[in-house]
Amino acid sequence: MIKDNLLEIKNALPEHVTLVAVSKTKPDKDLMEAYAAGQRIFGENKVQEMVGKWERLPKDIKWHMIGHLQRNKVKYMAEFVDLVHGVDSFRLLKEINKRAEQNNRSINCLLQIHIAEEDTKFGLDKEELNLILKSDEYHQLKNINVVGLMAMATFTDNATQVRREFNQLKTIFDSIQPENPQIKTLSMGMSGDYQIAIEEGSTMVRIGSSIFGKRN
Ligand SMILES: *Cc1c(COP(=O)(O)O)cnc(C)c1O
Repeated sequence: MIKDNLLEIKNALPEHVTLVAVSKTKPDKDLMEAYAAGQRIFGENKVQEMVGKWERLPKDIKWHMIGHLQRNKVKYMAEFVDLVHGVDSFRLLKEINKRAEQNNRSINCLLQIHIAEEDTKFGLDKEELNLILKSDEYHQLKNINVVGLMAMATFTDNATQVRREFNQLKTIFDSIQPENPQIKTLSMGMSGDYQIAIEEGSTMVRIGSSIFGKRN
C-alpha cells in the first residue's frame, strides 16, 4: 500500500517538484517499502529518531531534518544530514556551520519563514530574513549553503487562507532570489495542501500521512 501511495503521488508531481517522504514515527520496514519503490529522500522531525534510522538503513538515503531543531542537537546529525529545512535563527545557522566544519563538510539549509496567521509556528519574518542575508557574518559562514526557504501554512480547511499564505512565501522568495541566486528551493506543502503549494510555486513537498498512513 505504501508503494502504491508513493507511486501515485510521485507520478502526479510536476518534474520540477522534489518529494520528501515524511517518515517520522514510522518503523524501518515502512521506510524500506518506500525505498524499494525508489524513494531516496526521507524527512524526519526528531534528531534521535533520524540518527537511528540513518544507522540502520541503506546509506544512499538522503535524510532531511524537517522539524524544529534545537542547537544542542545539531552535532548528532552533522555527519550525514542532507538538508535542514527549519533553520529559524542566525544562532542555529552558526551552530550548523560550526558542526559541519568539524565534519569537514558543507550542510545545505533552508531558512524557515513564518507565514501562518496562527502564531504557533516557528520562522523568520521578511525583515529578519533580509537582515541575515545582507549581513557580513552570514557571508563568512563557509560550511553551510542556504539553498532555499521553507514554511508551513496554518492548519486549517480554509483553502483560500492556505493559498494566500503560500503566495506570501513565494513573493518573499521572488524578492530575494535575484540577489541570492543560490536560493532555488521552495519547500512548502504537506499531505493536506501540497497541490495548492505547487500551484503557488513550491519546488519541494513534504508528504507523510498520504504515503505512510495516519500517525498515532
Ligand atoms: C509531519 C510534517 C509533514 C508531513 O505531514 P503530513 O500531513 O503527514 O503530510 C510535513 N512537514 C513538516 C514540517 C512536518 O512536521
